[in-house]
Amino acid sequence: MLKSDSEGGTPALEKALAGEELSYSDGVQLMHDENLFLLGSAADRIRRNLCGDVVTFVASYYLNYTNVCAASCPLCAFYRKGTENDAYTLTAEQIVARAKEAVDQLGATELHIVGGFHPKLGLDYYEKMIQAIKAEKPQVKVKAFTPAEIFFIARLTKNSVKEVLLRLKDAGLDALPGGGAEIFHPDTRKKIVIGKCSGEEWLDAAQQAHELGLRSNVTMLFGHVEKPEHVVDHVIRIRELHKRTKGFTTFIPLKFSLENTELEQKGLVTAESPSPYDLRVIAVSRLLLANVLNNVSVYWVALGKKVAQVALSYGGNDMVGTAHSEEIFKAAGKSSGTSLEELANMVREIKREPAQRDTFFNIIRTL
Ligand code: SF4
Repeated sequence: MLKSDSEGGTPALEKALAGEELSYSDGVQLMHDENLFLLGSAADRIRRNLCGDVVTFVASYYLNYTNVCAASCPLCAFYRKGTENDAYTLTAEQIVARAKEAVDQLGATELHIVGGFHPKLGLDYYEKMIQAIKAEKPQVKVKAFTPAEIFFIARLTKNSVKEVLLRLKDAGLDALPGGGAEIFHPDTRKKIVIGKCSGEEWLDAAQQAHELGLRSNVTMLFGHVEKPEHVVDHVIRIRELHKRTKGFTTFIPLKFSLENTELEQKGLVTAESPSPYDLRVIAVSRLLLANVLNNVSVYWVALGKKVAQVALSYGGNDMVGTAHSEEIFKAAGKSSGTSLEELANMVREIKREPAQRDTFFNIIRTL
């Protein structure tokens, strides 16, 4: 007789397979004790039940408008102080030229726009950026400014978070990316970010965006100094906010890239996380979020293409996007930018069904 997928699994795994919501202690048990194959098998089964076999991705172009940043996060290889030779800030004209290239030459339907916390840019810079893009390419979706950037802009310009969001929405903002979440738990957060909002402030800015009708992604940066407990805490905080707002489009667990970061230079992290840990984080996230937030994205830029393919069998149902022109992970030694066809081939190789989606997870076409 064939054994069931869960035979030998922990009580937490049995709960997940029975469709029960997992508690914090269940999540911790899965992070520490569960057999990885059983965990992946359960996450894959739940993914199939919730999302089917389609794997989605968006034609996306990344626009990192400035690398000048008032913060100095030890996790970051991207930021520069304004006096450094390779510091840059794009003008509205440069941004529009890049947007035209993205849409006309690469077929992008989404611009993913994030940058450093520039200490001198006013709110009008961000408004004009969006207005200029929309004037030239009204059809492209502008997914711009993480909740962490929104919080910073509000503080800098002495506006409320709500006022900043309203002004940017009026300018044409369609959605928010999910970066800057990192790890919410303060015991980890204080070691990896300096000068960035707290986890609570990030969640509050995301909630306010959702209440204004702006949907957002949400990320988690893992694989540095976090404890497994902090991974579980992070995902549960996301789950609880999403129950209230229904505002997140997808959860994107991001594997930390080490190269050129202060965490590497100070010897605080000496190697990137092993793939079994990465797969465990993705599978546990899928189980914790089940029946609440059903999209779990696999970011191939950070994971690498081969592990990303495996991760699609550990709970992932989305590959984020083509990610042309990404600068942040590039600064930490990763390369980005691929074609829809290559992503589709990666999906076909694991016998799943590729589909191009839009920013809000509507299917545009199967491939
Ligand atoms: S992670 Fe973001 S906020 Fe922190 S230093 Fe880098 S660009 Fe600045």
